[in-house]
Amino acid sequence: MEAFLTQTINIGRGSGNDVVIQNPDISRKHAKITFITEHVMLLEDTDSSFGTTVNGQRVERKIIGFEDIIVLANQEQLNLKDLFSRFVKSEKAEVKEEPVKSRSEDPLDFRADFKKLEKMHEMYVKVTEAMMVNTPRHQAWLRATFSMTPLLGMAFGPFGMAFGVLGSVVGQILSAELINPSEKKLTLEKEFKRTYICPNPACKRFLGFTPFADLVYQKKCSRCKAQWMD
Ligand SMILES: [Zn+2]
Repeated sequence: MEAFLTQTINIGRGSGNDVVIQNPDISRKHAKITFITEHVMLLEDTDSSFGTTVNGQRVERKIIGFEDIIVLANQEQLNLKDLFSRFVKSEKAEVKEEPVKSRSEDPLDFRADFKKLEKMHEMYVKVTEAMMVNTPRHQAWLRATFSMTPLLGMAFGPFGMAFGVLGSVVGQILSAELINPSEKKLTLEKEFKRTYICPNPACKRFLGFTPFADLVYQKKCSRCKAQWMD
């Protein structure tokens, strides 16, 4: 299994960049984007003359996702999905999907998929706390839980796998040396919002920062009426 590799893409007017933009207002070295996971990036303005904006706000450095709009020098909008497929996708690991279990006749029966969310909220809370509270005890917990293979976000033992889709990226986030603890927290939060969602593909509503036990109590999705529990 190949690991996801942190990948930096340099953008600017100079010919040495990965992405060359022929526009006099773009600086020679304008910005760079580093994929921390397959969905979350660190954007850095590399001291450009006319700046970089995220959703209209000028930034020096920011954690971003595909939903954000990045514009260089108020003119050139970056296509993040295109950058991903050109520079990252070829090296990304195959994500091992669990085989789809046969569902009952009811098209709104998502009980099996819902169960996969069980450990996610707990892990999100524990990892976030451990990232922010830098005590030896927390760091030991992080290492014991996730650093069996610190550079291979996917290759977890049974414990990591129990955390579902989100578990597979925690190792990547923890081992990303470019970002500080609060940026790691933001990266994890973006991944959490992407994965702690209603399992109905037609819905995919973010379930909020609601503990799993409370969702169990709700039994079904308030929006799409997908059945989560009996
Ligand atoms: Zn739903």
